[in-house]
Amino acid sequence: MRVKVYQRLVSYRISLLLIVTLTTLIAGNFSIAKAETKQDLRFVLQITIDGLRADLINRYANGFSKGGFRLLTEKGTYYTNAHYQFANTETIVGHATLATGTFPSQHGMVGNVWFDRDAGELAYNIEDPDHPIIPTRKNESKGAQVDPAQKKSRTQGRSPAVLLAPTIGDGLAAYFGGRSKIFGVSGKDRSAVSMAGHAGKAFWFSTNTGDFVTSTYYYDTYPDWVVKWNDLRQAEGYAGKSWALLNDPSTYLLADQDDRPYEADLKGYGRVFPHPFGQADDKLLYTRILISPIGDQLTLDFCKSLITHEQLGQDEIPDYLSISFSGVDAVNHFFGPSSLENEDVVVQLDRTLEDLFSFIDKSIGLMRTLVVFSADHGMADMPEYMTGLGYKADRLDPDQIVSTANRVGQKYGIDEVVRFFYRPYLYLNDEKIAAAKLDRIEVEHAIADALTDFDGIALAVASSRLTVQQSNPLISKVRNNHHVSRSGDIYIIQEPYWFLFDKGPVAAMHGSPWRYDTHVPVVFMGPTIKPNTVYRLVHPVDVAPTIAALLGMTPPGSAQGSLLEEVFQ
Ligand SMILES: [Zn+2]
Repeated sequence: MRVKVYQRLVSYRISLLLIVTLTTLIAGNFSIAKAETKQDLRFVLQITIDGLRADLINRYANGFSKGGFRLLTEKGTYYTNAHYQFANTETIVGHATLATGTFPSQHGMVGNVWFDRDAGELAYNIEDPDHPIIPTRKNESKGAQVDPAQKKSRTQGRSPAVLLAPTIGDGLAAYFGGRSKIFGVSGKDRSAVSMAGHAGKAFWFSTNTGDFVTSTYYYDTYPDWVVKWNDLRQAEGYAGKSWALLNDPSTYLLADQDDRPYEADLKGYGRVFPHPFGQADDKLLYTRILISPIGDQLTLDFCKSLITHEQLGQDEIPDYLSISFSGVDAVNHFFGPSSLENEDVVVQLDRTLEDLFSFIDKSIGLMRTLVVFSADHGMADMPEYMTGLGYKADRLDPDQIVSTANRVGQKYGIDEVVRFFYRPYLYLNDEKIAAAKLDRIEVEHAIADALTDFDGIALAVASSRLTVQQSNPLISKVRNNHHVSRSGDIYIIQEPYWFLFDKGPVAAMHGSPWRYDTHVPVVFMGPTIKPNTVYRLVHPVDVAPTIAALLGMTPPGSAQGSLLEEVFQ
């Protein structure tokens, strides 16, 4: 079947060449020939792998089959040197950037969580009290929440209301007069909602029920096919089972890195294979399924049903589906990116991708599909692992950061000058600074300077300094991250490999502007796109404008990226 796909792609390219040549000869106009190729494009499949640092595709290549990652890297135009240009490399920030082609300074998603200054409390990125999740069951059980960002949400409602820039899906909706079908699916709500944009529909995995859910922003009631899929209770079928290695342990590069003391044990999930998911009444059953290759497999199965029942790619109007696979990121957080668990989840994802491409080829045709592949951020190795290899790193204590800043405030006569700290932003108490009749900028700079001296912090950037042009590339990344009403007053950047997050269940993090967090793969694969490996520096903001150009559309309104020229050669 794999060979057949290659042959069809190759033969399609040859026939395409003939069409281009003939039309050019007849019409004497290359743009007409180009238009013919666009008519054949019926489906845009945007795949995002949560937390897939770009080098992991190389590190585990020996374990890959031919039809997954290799199909992408060998048949597509593969960018090996793509880096995010903003500082806070988190899930919503990366996804929103891929969808809109612009920076958090424009799309407003400055972090998974930010401080709502008016309300005086934290806000979760896509929370929306006006659009509750539609229940899938009469007596819905409640799972335990371990996602630290989700825990901050003030409501169960979800929508793209606070995504401030149009997306590629929004562009398709406008260009084709609402006739293009647009969907976003993911293991995580924020990854589905951001990619579906304002005009599309989103579904995501519920760690309460193991169902795929949506909110009233998208539907009044669930479509029949979703009810049927959820009634199969596929996730529940994994109760009492375990995540086991796909292959013989000796075949893994990281076979010796299964049990490391700093890996996290999620209440019985363990640090070594096999990892038991727990019984049906275990509140962490569906969370553990998401921290394994099974979550990705269920996501694909749901997408197959969606493609079939919504008849995606079956007419001349191109449809759009974003699939964001969440397993790699979840596994990274608990076991680290240099664990046996990481190697296995990526190898098993390779088989899931092979299954996906095979399904697309049968149902729509890969020769009619534009595949766009990337990741929302990379991942840092854990400080203990790097220390063991000779590189000094440690875990920062958020309380010490706050007390250091408050000590500076006390020198100015202010008690508790910090209003709130949630990484990466420190928010100052404006009222206290104003009441003390102090120069706000002076206080801000003094605190930033004190924090920069703190062991493990590379740079603390006062927001008031962002207006001044400076050559430090870290500052330009903080500037790209700065949204005028949502960002805090001081942005804190840790030293490489230092861990800066809540003291919670997770062992490893991303979210820094360092290269291991900004480095993601970018691949475009489709009927008119040549196999090519490109090593020049490119950026994920280029993805949305390039998709738009391939479809003959104007880029999303706020897009700042450039066209990836190799895709058009
Ligand atoms: Zn992520």
